[in-house]
Amino acid sequence: MNIELNETHNPSLKSWVLSANMKDCDFPIQNLPFGVFKDTIGHHVGIAIGDQILDISKAHQLGLFTDESLKAAEHCLKGSLEPLMSLESKYWSAIRLTVSSLLREGCALRNKVETCLVEAKNVEMLLPCRIGDFTDFFTSIHHATNAGKLMRPDSPLMPNFKHLPVAYHSRSSSIFASGTKVLRPHGQFKAKDQELPSFGPSRRLDFELELGFFIGKSNSIGSPIQLSEAEDHVFGMCLLNDWSARDIQAWEYQPLGPFLGKSFLTTISPWIITLEALRPFRISSLKRSSQDPALLPYLIDLNDQKFGGLDIQLEVSIQSQNMKEKNIAPQSITKSSFADQYWSIFQMVTHHTVNGCNLNTGDLIGSGTVSGPNEGESGCFLEMTQGGSKPITLKDGSERRFLEDGDEIMFAAKCKHATHTTIGFGECRGIIYPNN
Ligand code: MN
Repeated sequence: MNIELNETHNPSLKSWVLSANMKDCDFPIQNLPFGVFKDTIGHHVGIAIGDQILDISKAHQLGLFTDESLKAAEHCLKGSLEPLMSLESKYWSAIRLTVSSLLREGCALRNKVETCLVEAKNVEMLLPCRIGDFTDFFTSIHHATNAGKLMRPDSPLMPNFKHLPVAYHSRSSSIFASGTKVLRPHGQFKAKDQELPSFGPSRRLDFELELGFFIGKSNSIGSPIQLSEAEDHVFGMCLLNDWSARDIQAWEYQPLGPFLGKSFLTTISPWIITLEALRPFRISSLKRSSQDPALLPYLIDLNDQKFGGLDIQLEVSIQSQNMKEKNIAPQSITKSSFADQYWSIFQMVTHHTVNGCNLNTGDLIGSGTVSGPNEGESGCFLEMTQGGSKPITLKDGSERRFLEDGDEIMFAAKCKHATHTTIGFGECRGIIYPNN
């Protein structure tokens, strides 16, 4: 367990990139997330700072890295984060420390470093790495209870929920970066009063508010990752929208689980917030009450209970096409907290590998829909509108049970703490289009 703070977390640090020092900036010098951007020359690994991106390959060319940070930078030259992610975490820390020093107020090399910056608004963000596999969990007890109530009012939670983090294996080919068009999927569905299924565009298109995390160091097949070591295998986190067609999902899911109702698209925020940047926001993961069943030993670790949780505040906003045309600002429809999760991301890693399954560098793991215990904290429409029976009203007066064409969904995440600098996750957005 490594949650010690170091000089890169110091809240008094300021950057000579002035936009990074603005209040509410997602990418202050204490964050330094990794991503991949595309310009006219090709794909490059970068680190976000304010509204700028530090191009690692340019900084490497100028000889700004030495020792362990040099090895780390050399693993960033292929336009993908996989090589860096596959290294030991000390190399991730080394490049973070060097970049932090280069971007600090008063850095003597500022003039050189300045030539390595590109404006974020002038480049396109890509996926950070090749994502081989994508597993989506189901770890919010509030989401599991509220969604379960719609189907089983008397026993909403499935009997396994408190014993293991439930998951299904999802599709990696259809994961795209924020901003990708969301084409309304077509498929089969059957309403309860219909005798036979029909085919057409989904009428119950939904978002799912989730966090994702990327596997850094892999494990070999047959070698489970112990809970005490799970942290060493997680590179960092992003926002994840697991778009879901509820009507397709409801008809197809038995007995093997979600398939085409989910696999048409998943959108992620393109910047990976490293576990090191998240250290100041680690909290207890222990959400179990004395009435909850005891855990099996492989899911118990004292450090995980003390520090396995993450205090990340999430928010969803919507802006319909009509709102856009009338200049009505996006409307916040949900706020929830990752602090409320029943299972930690480290328990997810350990459970995923306990049977000997190997996780590869670049694999993406989703947390499942993050909902809170109160009203206004639902991580999807299914829950918020109780299966579409209680529509919400938007600022332009229109109602929503599920998503309509032209709607834009935006996720945001912030980590806030009284004595630490606020960091954010950047954008995860998508607009719904008909697929004609
Ligand atoms: Mn999901």
